[in-house]
Amino acid sequence: MKRIFCAILAACLMLTAQAAPGRAEEAEMPSEEPGASAEEAASRENPEPAPTVAPPDRIILLKSGSSGEEVRILQLRLQELGYLEGTADGIYGSDTKEAVKAFQRRNSLSVDGIAGPQTQKRLYSEDAIPAPPPPEPVDVLAGEWPMLINLDHPVGDQFLPADLVLMTDFCDPSLVKIKYPSTLGVRTAVEALIALLEGAKADGITKWQVSAGYRSYAEQESLLNKSINTHLKKNEGWSRSRARRAALQTVAEPGASEHHLGLSFDVNVPGASNFKSTKQCRWLHAHCWEYGFIVRYPEGKKSITGFSPEAWHIRYVGTEHSLIMRDEDLCLEEYLEKYQPAED
Ligand SMILES: [Zn+2]
Repeated sequence: MKRIFCAILAACLMLTAQAAPGRAEEAEMPSEEPGASAEEAASRENPEPAPTVAPPDRIILLKSGSSGEEVRILQLRLQELGYLEGTADGIYGSDTKEAVKAFQRRNSLSVDGIAGPQTQKRLYSEDAIPAPPPPEPVDVLAGEWPMLINLDHPVGDQFLPADLVLMTDFCDPSLVKIKYPSTLGVRTAVEALIALLEGAKADGITKWQVSAGYRSYAEQESLLNKSINTHLKKNEGWSRSRARRAALQTVAEPGASEHHLGLSFDVNVPGASNFKSTKQCRWLHAHCWEYGFIVRYPEGKKSITGFSPEAWHIRYVGTEHSLIMRDEDLCLEEYLEKYQPAED
């Protein structure tokens, strides 16, 4: 193990030396540490580059709206670690905030997008963990069986579905309102959704809205944090972990949200407060299966899906699966359990 680690480290140091001439003297091999755990050794197989951006003369708290030399240096260091692109303009805008959040997440710091002393101390240290390489998009429809995401089968923070499209590019506004113009979905699922809504229109059921499609791990995390903060504000004296437990009743744990697949949509009626009682909901639950969608979190299956019923949340699986699930009243977990051959 140690030999492999040393070989990789040596190769990386050679690359560093080539990329930054004159800095080779700073690249020191770490001394052998007998008794280091396998985990420690594994974590050191990806040695971090030594910082070339020197910390500012004074560490001050930096956050959205901050500007000046300290922010510029912060941005340069975030760039060096692969968290930020573009020019270091010295203005702490939304890109810088997102980069700080990504850095905090990767470095197990509390994720708030504020560069306080703890965040900066880690950022300018040699222990700062750089951003991972860009994720390889996953063809979420390639498998023979629908992909399963739930609390027991989460995806990682780098999960990215292939073939995501901007829904507003595909959806006729007279057919469906896309509540948030930046909403993305996997092309095949978006096309199936359009076919579904056209089918509804042919039956005289119109006025639809999509309020959610693809959601990244980071977006789910910020959604959860928002909910936690709302609970904390409403309930004086609550601990953060108690507020988190409460938030998790309605917001999925990052990684466990089916929206990460880009195959799920939250469908409702603009302005309607109770979708479940609308004719659109009745039509959706009767017909979505014919278009390859399932009602993913149905009534009476919470103990299996792990989620309270969500009348508005549909998931694309393809008609070869959805029709069987409808006919046999199976949720996705039950369906896979019954039909998918067990892995060896
Ligand atoms: Zn949903």
